Amino acid sequence: MREEPDLRKSERARIILNELKKLYPDAGCTLDFTSPLELLIATQLAAQCTDARVNIVTKDLFKKYPNVEAYAAADLQELEKDIRSTGFFRNKAKNIKECCTRLLTHYNGKVPGNMEDLLSLPGVGRKTANVVLSTVFSKPGVIVDTHCTRLSNRLGLTKSTNPDIIEKDLMKLLPQSEWANFSHRLVYHGRAVCQARKPKCDICGIRSYCTYYKKAIK
Ligand code: SF4
Repeated sequence: MREEPDLRKSERARIILNELKKLYPDAGCTLDFTSPLELLIATQLAAQCTDARVNIVTKDLFKKYPNVEAYAAADLQELEKDIRSTGFFRNKAKNIKECCTRLLTHYNGKVPGNMEDLLSLPGVGRKTANVVLSTVFSKPGVIVDTHCTRLSNRLGLTKSTNPDIIEKDLMKLLPQSEWANFSHRLVYHGRAVCQARKPKCDICGIRSYCTYYKKAIK
């Protein structure tokens, strides 16, 4: 049976959602891509790396590897070199090559549009799958990255640092149609105001609804 969120928290979540909408009306995925495959690759590269850095790297990468066959046939060391500056490049290169090989052998070279199949791809976890599903397949998905983890905890919308639990907590609190955009807006707010080391609570537009802030001013 579906567990009902406590009303105070769900009410706060609704207000935070609306305030973030006003603050960041145009928030969306900040990775550059022109196809589901490019987004899948960019999202894998974005692990432990900024979207800005990934966008620099993919500018040339997407020209050099224009399709799934090119990644599957890539020389691993060369691919590592091409994505080196995104960090964890050995793992990422291996996963991308294996992921694209599986796309060819199991999915006719196409990026699948459902969670189960996406999760069967090497290097693809729920975060990457939800980015792809929500951005190119218009399916609902909460995207739990480092910003979402930090902000949803500070805002008191979850008590967990486990991405799977955070995802479930936010899914209970927010309407499906808002799942992805709420995640994007948390990223914007995390970059601009609620930074990891020193959140700028003094200028924060949602501080009235923030558990962290309420505790800090007590
Ligand atoms: S009040 Fe402070 S901790 Fe809370 S969301 Fe705003 S910046 Fe982050």
